[in-house]
This record gives sequence, C-alpha cells and structure tokens, in this order.
Amino acid sequence: MKPLIGVSSCLLGNLVRYDGRLKLEPRLKEIFGENVEWLPICPEVELGLSTPREKIILLYDVEAPSLQTLETQQDLTQQMQNWIDAKILYLQKEPLKGFIFKSKSPSCGIQNVEFFSSRDAAPQRIGTGLFAKAFLTAFPHLPYLQECDLDDPELVKSFIDRVLHS
Ligand code: SF4
Repeated sequence: MKPLIGVSSCLLGNLVRYDGRLKLEPRLKEIFGENVEWLPICPEVELGLSTPREKIILLYDVEAPSLQTLETQQDLTQQMQNWIDAKILYLQKEPLKGFIFKSKSPSCGIQNVEFFSSRDAAPQRIGTGLFAKAFLTAFPHLPYLQECDLDDPELVKSFIDRVLHS
C-alpha cells in the first residue's frame, strides 16, 4: 500500500486558490512520482468559501489570531476553528504518514505568514497559518515539508525516510 501523504490541495494543481490561479507544484511529481497516495486538503474551500474569493488575512495577536476577509472584514476565525477541529478528528483516523504544506498561506503556511496589526499597516512575516498550527499541535511527530523545502535535497530525503519508516 502506498503511503498516504496530506498536501495543500493547490500544490496538486487543483484550482482552489483565492485568486483562482494555478499553483501546481511540479516538484511533487518529480520527487514522489506515483509512489505515494495524496490526500489533498484546502481549508478555505472546505470551509465553504468560493474560488475565486476575497483574500483573507490574519490579524494580531500572533498567539490568538483573528482570520478575516481583507475587504469586507468578515470574521472567519470561529468558523475556521470549528472546521479545523472536525478535520483533525477525521485525520486522526486516517493512516497519514506526512504532510506537505503550501508556504505563506494564512491557512496552510508553517512560518513567515503575514500578520497585520491593522488593515492599513504593513504586514509582518512572523506567523503560522491556522490549519498548519493546529495540525502541528495534533501531529507533533508526523514528518512534514513546506513547499519551499522541496528545493532542499536533505530535507526531502529526511522526509521520505521518515515517511517510509514510520
Ligand atoms: S494554501 Fe491552503 S487554503 Fe490556500 S489555496 Fe492552497 S490549500 Fe487552499
């Protein structure tokens, strides 16, 4: 049986991004070929948001951020938290071996995610996306990569080794 790897859905070329544009990550195919089974997840679309959609942002504070739509200022924090809670419960029942996250996203980004003190202020790249943060807390020992890590052969090799031997 192929190892099951969760992945931010847009990296597989699914048209789920807020701007409706393709964000296929070709290195996934180059590195993993047909040797894994992908479990694509898009927190924002699974939340019920449309594609394309208004951009969403994270507002301070970093430890308890507020997730809001940029223009219409709709607060999605609780809605997203409810979805995350249910999704983590679902994932805990799956034979998941690892996860590959889209970088910089307010939902999927592991690090350097933009945080805003206000809509008018320049963002600071200091945070973690809401789904990514909850995932790392729920699965502290599961190997993961960020999209930007796919350039690093050592990180990729370590990820594959851990996926195959967990
Ligand atoms: S980064 Fe995450 S939330 Fe954004 S489009 Fe990709 S899968 Fe969806």
